[in-house]
Amino acid sequence: MKPSLLSLEDAKALDNSEVAELFRNHINPGQYRLLKLLGFNRITIKRAEGMYYYDQDGRAILDFFGGFGSLALGHNHPRILAARQRFQQEQRHEIAICFMSQYAATLARNLATLAPEDLNMVFFGSTGSEAVEYALKLAEKSRDPLRKRVAYAEKSFHGKSRGALSVTDSPFYRSDFTLPNNTVRIPFGDAQALRATLHSDRSIGTLILETVQGGAGIIPANPAYWQEVRDICDAYDVVWIADEVQCGVGRTGHFFAFEHANVAPDIVTLAKSLGGGKAAIGAVISRRTLFMKAYGSKKTALTHAQATFGGIGESCATAIETLNVIYDENLLENCTVQGELLLGELHRLQAKHSTLIKEVRGQGLMVGLEFHDISQAMPKGLRTLTGLADQQLKGSLCGFVGSLLLRDYSILVAFTEYNRNVIRLEPPLIVSREEVLRFIEALDDLLSRGVAGIVSAYAKSQLSPA
Ligand code: PMP
Repeated sequence: MKPSLLSLEDAKALDNSEVAELFRNHINPGQYRLLKLLGFNRITIKRAEGMYYYDQDGRAILDFFGGFGSLALGHNHPRILAARQRFQQEQRHEIAICFMSQYAATLARNLATLAPEDLNMVFFGSTGSEAVEYALKLAEKSRDPLRKRVAYAEKSFHGKSRGALSVTDSPFYRSDFTLPNNTVRIPFGDAQALRATLHSDRSIGTLILETVQGGAGIIPANPAYWQEVRDICDAYDVVWIADEVQCGVGRTGHFFAFEHANVAPDIVTLAKSLGGGKAAIGAVISRRTLFMKAYGSKKTALTHAQATFGGIGESCATAIETLNVIYDENLLENCTVQGELLLGELHRLQAKHSTLIKEVRGQGLMVGLEFHDISQAMPKGLRTLTGLADQQLKGSLCGFVGSLLLRDYSILVAFTEYNRNVIRLEPPLIVSREEVLRFIEALDDLLSRGVAGIVSAYAKSQLSPA
């Protein structure tokens, strides 16, 4: 007898409270409480297209979150949908283990074409964390056994699997898990500190850095730093892994963020936007000489080759189309133009709302907006009234701003664990000038209410959800 399973039609017909109940019962009740604090729990998305989510009532929500940089092409780009439909109609094969895949081969060749120098060997996985795991293992395998230590940066984020977490600086995510401990932490953006560390500890054979730190609240480093990183790694014979899972695939206006500095790492990781917003795919591109040292012989070739779903057909087909769309639609150029507009306008708002906005920073369409800490300034009565003393929001202005941007202006933005005062803006690279200006106008209007206006509007929204 068939167990009592819900069907796809049942899934589609669930209303907001039914989804909430299943989420609380079977996914994560604590996470639900956080979504509730932000007011995000009240929305059930029906569909998504381009720059917008549409909820069950037909409300359009402008997406300035962009899935933490996963939606370079926006939602459901027609060419991505068509590529996937074609792949399905032709009944192409997915698993690429016994037989070679035309799609995996083509995608590898395209990535090698985009990458500089001899960065032309490509591994495929399904996530950013898997890409980082592979990159760390590849670097280690290419080194002699005395060079096994890995340097990573303060406030780094490289993923939540054990290896990736061992080079991720967050005490929150590391919690009390048992992690590989052959690691050394260095400041980000400080070439002198890097040189001193590598000089004093010759067992460090690998350096992993995000080219623009995402989880830290969007921290770019200047080109001179990356040129020094290259020189220092050469001088101390250290393998440099550039983690571009978030900042790669065009997010900063170049396909790879390191291109701004005219240098090349030894290994680069990609994921997120590579899948065109539809496929879970990650990739690692490495220098051929380094790859051959690690896995170049018949004996070592399978030591870490792709996993079951590595290089899976439809994901590779989707990624091939993603790369072509980026260039056919001049999205790198649009990213640069709209990114400059966004940063410029935010700087203008910073001058206007200087008691609220502390800093604006970013590269291309990867932008961080940092607010002053208002936890001390917040009226105590309001805090008690709304339960804002809750650990998760910690009285940070950006929780209220994000919540109200969604409720009153139908705009979605993102937060960051490392710094509760930062809003992350990573809209799809297809964003138009009008949409950037609409976001700016909404933010300006909201900030004009001042701290008291913002906090009391938030308190009211929690007490009487619209
Ligand atoms: N590296 C970086 C720089 C990231 O930003 C992320 C995800 N935010 C990861 C790795 C992990 O990617 P995933 O969530 O796909 O495992």
